[in-house]
Amino acid sequence: MPSRLVCFNPSCARQFPIDAVLYECPACGGLTAVDNDFNQADASLWKRTWDERRLSREPLDVSGVWRFREMLPFVEDPAHVVTIREGNTPLFDALPAASYAGVDALQLKHQGYNPSGSFKDNGMTAGATQARRLGMQRVACVSTGNTSASMAAYAASAGMQAVIFLPHGKIAYGKLAQALEFGALTVQVEANFDQILALVRELAARIGIYLLNSVNPFRIEGQKSIVIEMLDQRNWVVPDWIVLPGGNLGNVSALGKGLRELYQIGAISKLPRIAVVQAAGSAPFHEYFERGFQAPFRPVRSPETLATAIRIGDPVSWPKAQFEIESCQGVVASATEQEIADAKAIVGRCGFGCEPASAATVAGLKNLVAAGTIPADADVVGILTGHLLKDPDYVYHYHTGGLTAPDGTKLQPTFGNAPVVMPNDAAKIAQLLESQ
Ligand SMILES: *Cc1c(COP(=O)(O)O)cnc(C)c1O
Ligand SMILES: [Zn+2]
Repeated sequence: MPSRLVCFNPSCARQFPIDAVLYECPACGGLTAVDNDFNQADASLWKRTWDERRLSREPLDVSGVWRFREMLPFVEDPAHVVTIREGNTPLFDALPAASYAGVDALQLKHQGYNPSGSFKDNGMTAGATQARRLGMQRVACVSTGNTSASMAAYAASAGMQAVIFLPHGKIAYGKLAQALEFGALTVQVEANFDQILALVRELAARIGIYLLNSVNPFRIEGQKSIVIEMLDQRNWVVPDWIVLPGGNLGNVSALGKGLRELYQIGAISKLPRIAVVQAAGSAPFHEYFERGFQAPFRPVRSPETLATAIRIGDPVSWPKAQFEIESCQGVVASATEQEIADAKAIVGRCGFGCEPASAATVAGLKNLVAAGTIPADADVVGILTGHLLKDPDYVYHYHTGGLTAPDGTKLQPTFGNAPVVMPNDAAKIAQLLESQ
């Protein structure tokens, strides 16, 4: 049976053809999801096929998403696939981060090594592929930065026009630079993310552009590959915990779905537990979890955090995220601005670094170990979502002691590494080096 779209709301569960252009269920307004038929799946054959493709030079096989295309059966014609060699990201042993967080060992899957520098590429390749299948000329998104950078890259590569809506003034320059360089029409609106999303949903319906926001269920399909590739790298040894940051909650929805599907086809024999970490100033899902997921879900009106990628007060995917957290007995944690900033510097000491939102992974892990939720001997994989150079301003200000939290508090450069200004004097510089 071919893949279909379904309404995610269990009391509705209506079904739609896979090529219907829907961002929400027309009957109940619920989120839509891709429903795949894995009845004919053969996990051991598929794993062998995925291994064999490593010897191939075909673009689909070289992609870290499409190498696993049996798990994304919504694509009926491979000619529709838009790929720029996404995925294939490293799984690092991260000793400094492990000892900082208080665990014996920690692996970090670094999605910042994607072509546009964040995990958004894992999803965007699938979203752009669906756009091409639908014959779309124009794609659009609202973004805190990385979605727009990624969408602009894929649209340019597929010959589509990209239209990007950004909150005015609250974006990291690395991300804006990418969108401009890739030729996207970039509209800065004087409103916050949640308000602009409502605006663009109206525009999409009015003038026929394809929306590639994280509500787009095909992006969720692509992001499943993050856990598929990670498990492939671990030779299918399932970790006890997977820790990742949460903003709009699309990624936790994707990782949870991917893991459930791998379990369903027999590729793994248990589900890892997932821990989502939110920035304390933008933590509606954490607050909801703390209330035992008792309705109603309460958005945060003025979300604040320097980790702009997770500065989301009204995360659209919370019903899916709740389902995934409940399915794997996961947890939701939070981390303060200081904790995120310090954890980020520690990830830097591992030799790769990450952007602020990604550091919530390590900061949240530390808090969960301190609280006794995650034991020190647990087998933990953390997801780093974006590249260090996405937000160089933050890095510079942290190390030079000039980083100020949104509430005006000065953050401490606990692991600061400020540059040293010296005169042009060999003796003095030699003295400095010897004193280190
Ligand atoms: C988008 C993004 C997130 C948040 O992911 P959601 O799917 O919105 O929860 C976290 N970190 C980075 C770097 C991102 O770009
Ligand atoms: Zn519905």
